[in-house]
Parts: sequence; C-alpha cells; structure tokens
Amino acid sequence: MTNLTDSQRDELAGRLAARRQTLRAEVQRELANSDDPRIVGFKNELAATEDWVLADILADLDIAMVTRDIAELAEVEAALARIDDGSYGTCSDCGQPIGWPRLNAQPTAERCIACQEKREVRSGRPGHPTL
Ligand SMILES: [Zn+2]
Repeated sequence: MTNLTDSQRDELAGRLAARRQTLRAEVQRELANSDDPRIVGFKNELAATEDWVLADILADLDIAMVTRDIAELAEVEAALARIDDGSYGTCSDCGQPIGWPRLNAQPTAERCIACQEKREVRSGRPGHPTL
C-alpha cells in the first residue's frame, strides 16, 4: 500500500535508475584505476557484465574505496526491486505508507521516519537528517 501517485512513483523510479547507472560507472572507474590484486581478476568480468552479481563479491572483499558506492548501489537496487514488486513506498516495518516528501528527499527509504528513528536508536548509529 502506498500513497504515491503513478507519476510520483515513475519519477522516483527514473531517478533511482539514473543513480544506479552513475554508481555502476563510478565503481567500474574506481576499479579500473585500482591495482589491488583482488580486483585485477575481476576487471574483465566487470567490464563485460551487465548483470551486477559481482557487487556481492565486491562487497565481500570490503574494498574501502568502493564500499560506500556498493552499499548505496545495493540500496538503490533494493528500491528498484520494491518498485517492481509493488511494495515501494510502504514501510517495511509497520506497513504504513511512506510520505512523498521523505521519498522525494531519499528515494531509497525503506521505512517511515518513525520506524527508521527507532532502528537508529537501537543500532546506536548516528541519525540521518530526517524529513
Ligand atoms: Zn514504519
């Protein structure tokens, strides 16, 4: 259940898809410039693959310079998957619709503000600016 209009959802989907392209390009560029021996073996596969299964492998390698991009990429992919399966815009914890202002500011948001804040208190992570 979501309170987004079709055009709002389409706009966010477009922005997420664009962000995915940017992040993929960024990761590939960073890897291409790396001489980390763990990466060298992946370079050809990365250049050749359109499906992004290697992201999991790269995440496991925990390569500092791409870790943040990979993490964001995973969030973007997850959001796009939720758009596909129709669960996008619904809080994964309480099932309430996530408001347009929050999604507009953070299209990868998976939870409503209340649930996100609860999680951050529990996990002890510093809070993100919320909307
Ligand atoms: Zn919630």
